[in-house]
Amino acid sequence: MSEPRIPIAAPVLGEEELANVIEAVRSGWISSKGAFIGEFEREFAAFCGARHGVAVANGTVALHIALLAAGVGPGDEVLVPSLTFVATANAVRYCGAMPVFVDSTRDTWQMDASALEARVTPRTRAILPVHLYGHPCDMDPILQFAARRGLAVVEDAAEAHGAQYRGRRVGGLGTTGCFSFYGNKLITTGEGGICVTDDGALAERLRLLRDHGMDPKRTYWHDTVGYNYRMTNLQAAVGVAQVKKLGAFIEKKRQIARWYAEALAPLERADRLRLHPEAPWARSVFWMYSVLLADSEASVDQVRNRLGDRGVDSRPFFHPIHTLPPYATGERLPVAEELSARGLNLPSGVGLEQAQVKRVARALAEALER
Ligand SMILES: *Cc1c(COP(=O)(O)O)cnc(C)c1O
Repeated sequence: MSEPRIPIAAPVLGEEELANVIEAVRSGWISSKGAFIGEFEREFAAFCGARHGVAVANGTVALHIALLAAGVGPGDEVLVPSLTFVATANAVRYCGAMPVFVDSTRDTWQMDASALEARVTPRTRAILPVHLYGHPCDMDPILQFAARRGLAVVEDAAEAHGAQYRGRRVGGLGTTGCFSFYGNKLITTGEGGICVTDDGALAERLRLLRDHGMDPKRTYWHDTVGYNYRMTNLQAAVGVAQVKKLGAFIEKKRQIARWYAEALAPLERADRLRLHPEAPWARSVFWMYSVLLADSEASVDQVRNRLGDRGVDSRPFFHPIHTLPPYATGERLPVAEELSARGLNLPSGVGLEQAQVKRVARALAEALER
C-alpha cells in the first residue's frame, strides 16, 4: 500500500507552457486581448481541419453559443444522447430549448443514429452528437438524417480532440464542433473551450455572442444580447504550448489503451469484463480508458472502493441524463442505462507508465475476485 496513488488523470505541463505564460504576463496582455488567443484559435482549428476557431471560457459555453448560432431557441428540441456529461443537456436548456434523449449503441457506446427517427418532431431544430470517452460517433447516418430534415449538427467533441471518423477529425464534421480544455481533457488551458467551423458567417456570429454582442466595427454598439464568454490570453498561452503536443498525447493515449487491452485480456477471456471498443471506421483517442463489468459482477461502487483500497483512482460512467432530477421523464433508454450501470473509467493520464497500467490491471483482477 506504500506505492503512490494512481490518479484518474493529471495534466502534463512543461517549460513551454510556463515560458508562454511568463511572456503573456510580461507583455501585460493577460485579459482577453493578446496574440496567444488568435494563434491558439488558428492552430487548433487547423488541427481539426476546420477554417475558423472561436476560443471561449469553457466547453459548456462553447456548446451554448454554438446552439444559439445554429438558431436553437425557446420551444425548440435538440436530439442529445442520454449517456453523456450533464453539460451537453444543460447547454440546450440555456437556449430555452428542450433536450430529447436518444439511446446509445451497445457496440460503440455512442449515440444510436438508428434511434433518431423515432425521436424527431416538428420542433426538432438540431442534433447534438457527443464523441463519448474519445470515440467518434457514427457520423455519416447522423449527418444524412440531419440533411434530410434540415437540422443543424453541433458536435460535442469535449472528450475527443483529434479522434477520427473514417479518416476525418471530429469537430469539423458538423455545422460547428465544440471542445473543452478543462484540466482532465486531452489538452488543457485550465478552463477553456473552442468552437470550430468552416462557415465564416457562423464564426462571426459566434465572436459576437462571445463578446457581449458588440459590433466589431462600432464600439459599444450591441445589436443582440451577447455574453462574456471570452478566453483570456493567459489561458491561450498555455493552449498554444499544449496544442503542439496534442499529436504526441493522442499517440500516448492509444499506447495506454493497447497496454490496458493486453493487461486486461485474461479478465475479458474469463468473461469478467468487456474492453473499451473501437469501431473499424474509428480512430479513438481513448480520453478515458473504460471497461464494462460483467452482469453478475459486484457493483461498480464496490469495485471502485476495492480499487481505492489498492491506491487506484477510478470513475463510474455518467448517469444517463434522462434519470437526473432536472430531466427525469420516466422514459427508459435501456442501453444507456445498462452501460451506465456497468461502466468504469480507469486511470488514463497521458503521463501513465506501462508498469502503472499493469498495477491497475492486477488491482482490478483482485477487486473482481471476491
Ligand atoms: C467536459 C465536458 C463538457 C464541458 O466542458 P467544460 O469545459 O468543463 O465546460 C461538455 N461535454 C462533455 C461531453 C464533456 O466531457
